[in-house]
Parts: sequence; C-alpha cells; structure tokens
Amino acid sequence: MVLEKLGDSLKNTLHKIAQSIFVDERLINELVKDIQRALLQADVNVKLVFNLTEKIKQRALKEEPPAGLTKKEYLIKIVYEELVNFVGGKQEKVEVSGKPFRIMLLGLFGSGKTTTTGKLARFYTKRGFKVAIVGLDIHRPAAMEQIEQVAKSVGVKFFLDKKLKDPVSIYKKFSEEYADYDVLIIDTAGRDALSSDLIREIEEISKEVKPNERILVISADIGQTAQQQAEQFHKSCDINGIIVTKMDGTAKGGGALSACAVSGAKIKFIGTGEKSDDLEQFNPEGFIGRMLGMGDIEALLEKAKEAISEEDAEDLGKRFLKGEFNLIDLYEQMQAMKKMGHLSKIAEMIPGFSQLKLPKEMLEVQQGKLEKWKYAMDSMRKEELEDPDIIDSARLERISRGSGIPVSDIRELLKQYKQSKKLVKMFKGNKGDLSKMMKKFGGRMPMGM
Ligand code: GDP
Ligand code: MG
Repeated sequence: MVLEKLGDSLKNTLHKIAQSIFVDERLINELVKDIQRALLQADVNVKLVFNLTEKIKQRALKEEPPAGLTKKEYLIKIVYEELVNFVGGKQEKVEVSGKPFRIMLLGLFGSGKTTTTGKLARFYTKRGFKVAIVGLDIHRPAAMEQIEQVAKSVGVKFFLDKKLKDPVSIYKKFSEEYADYDVLIIDTAGRDALSSDLIREIEEISKEVKPNERILVISADIGQTAQQQAEQFHKSCDINGIIVTKMDGTAKGGGALSACAVSGAKIKFIGTGEKSDDLEQFNPEGFIGRMLGMGDIEALLEKAKEAISEEDAEDLGKRFLKGEFNLIDLYEQMQAMKKMGHLSKIAEMIPGFSQLKLPKEMLEVQQGKLEKWKYAMDSMRKEELEDPDIIDSARLERISRGSGIPVSDIRELLKQYKQSKKLVKMFKGNKGDLSKMMKKFGGRMPMGM
C-alpha cells in the first residue's frame, strides 16, 4: 500500500480512541498531536496540518454524535471525514464523452508523462475503448522512441513523427485518422520549470487539439512543493485535473497529495509503480478508508447510515403533509423516530413544526410496543394495512391468533393510527396554524405516544 507508514500511524491513533474510556478534551488533544506527528512525517505542509487538526478538534469538541453512534465512533468518523476532505473530498472521475475523447498530459521533465500515457492507454483499453497515443514531445531526442515503445507495450496504435520539428504539425498530420478512436492520449514535452516557453507550447497544442482533459502530471517525490507547481499550472495552463505519479516510491506522498488537493485542481489518478497497470483512479474516500483500515471505517459508516437520512425524513414529512398515510407509513415513521431517538428531528423538517415545543418523553418511541406492533402488522393482509378501518373484530381475532399479540395491543395500534390520521387531516386543512391545532388536542401530540 502506498503511504504505508502514514497509514500505520493513523491506524494506531484510531486504535487509541477505540481503547479509551471517555472522549474528553485530553483524548482529543492527544489525538490531534498524534495526527500532526503522522502527517508531518509524511511531509505534509505544517500550515495545512494545523488547519486540519484544528478543524478536527473543533468538531470533536462541539458536535454531538448522531443517534446510533457512540462518541468514540463519531470521533473516528470526524477524523475520517476531515482526512477525506484534506485530500480532495468527493471523487471526480474522468468520464469519456464524445469521440475521440482527447486527454492531453502536461508537466515538467521526468514527472512521468510518457509512462502515464501508456498507463492511461491501458486503463481505457481495459474498459473497452479503442485507444491511440499521440506523441508530441519534440524536445528530447529519445522521446519518440520511448513513446513508441510504451505504445507497443500496451498494444495500442500510436501516431508520431521523428522528423517534424513542431508539435502542432505532428498532431495535424494524422488528424484524419483520429475519428476511428474513442480515446486519444496526447503526450507532450516538459521543461525543467514552468517557463513562458512551455506555457506557449501548451497553448498552441491546446488550440489545435482542443483537449477534453488537460491533465498535469506531478511526481510525488517533490512532496509539499507540489502545491506551488500545481497552482502555477492551474493558473497558467487551465488544467482540469492532476495525476500524481510515483506514489509508490516515496514517503513524501502525503505532502504531494495534500498539496495538490489545495491547489484548486482535482487529483484524478495516482501512479503507483513503473508498470502499465500501476495506475489507480483517485478516490479520496477509498484512499483514506484503506489507510485507516477499510473494514472498520465501512462498518462505522454503515452504522451511521442506519440512522435515518435527512432525505428519508423529509420524504416522510412530505407524504405526511399530503395525507397519504396508512399503517405501513405509521410503522415506518415510528421506526424512523426510533432510529433518530425522537420525533423532534422529523419535526424540524416539517415546515411549521419546529416552532412547537414538544415534551421529549412524549416523542420517544417505546421499543417494546413497536416490536409488538410489527408482529401484528406482519399478520395483517395488504388491504388491512392499507385501509385499517376495515379491521373488524373477526379480523382482529385472526390477526391476534396469527401474530400471538393480544387483541388489546392491536387495538392500541389501531387507535394510534386513527389519531395520527386525524392529525394528518388537520394538517391538510390547516397547514398554517399548528398551534391552534395543538390546542384541539389539548397540547398533546397523538402521534408521539
Ligand atoms: P516524463 O519526462 O514526464 O515523460 O517522465 P517519464 O514518463 O519518462 O518518467 C520518468 C521516470 O519516472 C521513468 O523512469 C519512469 O519509469 C518513472 N515513473 C513514472 N511514473 C512512475 C510511478 O508511478 N512510479 C515509479 N516508481 N516510477 C515512475
Ligand atoms: Mg516524456
């Protein structure tokens, strides 16, 4: 794994959290120090490190864990989320669209452009695209041989000209052939530094090629100085993304990744070796997850997801307002409340509801009751769930026998349903004036038990 050492230190840190008894300020401070040490050792810029750990600290001190997560678990989640943001946040893939899709690589000498050209050719060939390589490096004598060799090794068509002395002419020379290909990877020449000469060359090529992606190739072994390079290229050459190469061979990878992430351009791939298969799409979540021990993090995120999502709650709120409400909804709603702890969170998402001050105990769902109701509902027929009003005493008896739940409990469920339905009706007719409605119920919410 790349950045193995950093991964190990971070894993140790998380382990410490897991083993601690409380989450308190002392633990948070210790955690922050550990993370700082680990990142500084991976050559991450001091200022970036302090910004990151300050964010983690503030969140850890202020935020309350959502229902379903313990304080410790939530602390681990905060560290994970902030590290993901630190290396770029959400993944941005290079999606092939239009034909031929033109990817142009640029960057300094030795950054890994030509090698990466081959890797990308292989990446897209494996995904079923017809790929060709165009070699436009006219500055180094051996460059054309190298690109020829790279193209042959991955088995794709290549276009180059060893005599022409200008990249635009080389590109134009084959222009009629490009239409046959889905993806064109265009390798360009580098310089020792980003010179005006290089900027001009890139602009001239760009004007002719009209690349869909202009990708800067940066070597990870330059560490945190990658920030300056990435920013300069971002500003002068209007790049769409970055590929960080040589992540395998250096302890400075953390510095390079975080430096690129703050440059304003997205990291799209990372190079992890010299072979043509050593290329990964860069996915911050997956990358950090693996570093911290994927299984653990996944389980944790799963757990957090189980607590109801805001969208679900909102959906429920909307359906509720429309008056589409049957026993299944009631049950789902109660489950949602159970997951969230109490109704107030749903209430916050329903317009007008949040102003009401509802006593907490009234809103909490009683676990035992909910279970019984679930068994009862399992024994109901579809038409009964959808229209509980048809449940007469004969049906009640049947449901009770089928579920093993006493008739009195099922009656209570039905009563709950009727009250909720009444509330829904009032909602429909009376959306604006909730307090008046509350008065009719004597200040009690029938839904919340
Ligand atoms: P260019 O000048 O930008 O075209 O760079 P090259 O593609 O010629 O690569 C320069 C050197 O870096 C070569 O020796 C490559 O084998 C090596 N290289 C490129 N990418 C990687 C990588 O991801 N990992 C490692 N270990 N070496 C790489
Ligand atoms: Mg090259």
